[in-house]
Amino acid sequence: MEVLLIAVLLGLIPAMVAKNKGRNFANWWLYGALIFIVALPHALLLKAAGPNFKKCPFCAEIIKAEAIKCKHCGSDVGVSSGQTEKLLVKERPWVSTAVLSFVSIVMGGLIGYGLDSAMEKWFGIHTSPWLLFVFAVLGIVASFRVFLRLVTRKQ
Ligand SMILES: [Zn+2]
Repeated sequence: MEVLLIAVLLGLIPAMVAKNKGRNFANWWLYGALIFIVALPHALLLKAAGPNFKKCPFCAEIIKAEAIKCKHCGSDVGVSSGQTEKLLVKERPWVSTAVLSFVSIVMGGLIGYGLDSAMEKWFGIHTSPWLLFVFAVLGIVASFRVFLRLVTRKQ
């Protein structure tokens, strides 16, 4: 259990690095959890897709923010990056929100469970099932906030 937990937490590091460079967080998280040793240097070496870049809404490739035509698929993308982001979110907000919520609840449960058994094993303190409970609630609260943001977003 602890090994799995550590892998999941370590995976967050390359995932955050890659996310800052405009890459997919979930993919990199999985990648980092599975092969952290490879994923971290890979993430660090990634070419940054910072504020000067945006994602083509048609083919999802990273292109320059000033581009009005995608160099990958040739589509017209003459909108600001903010608008592009809105377009992307509009596509399937419920699917990504549901996935995000599920992940945060499962993560909360896993972290709580891992901490419970770690406390028991390393410090001999019996916390089970309270840490599991606390972190599961945190996961539910986090997912609730995501849903709230989706519902209250202006159309
Ligand atoms: Zn494109």
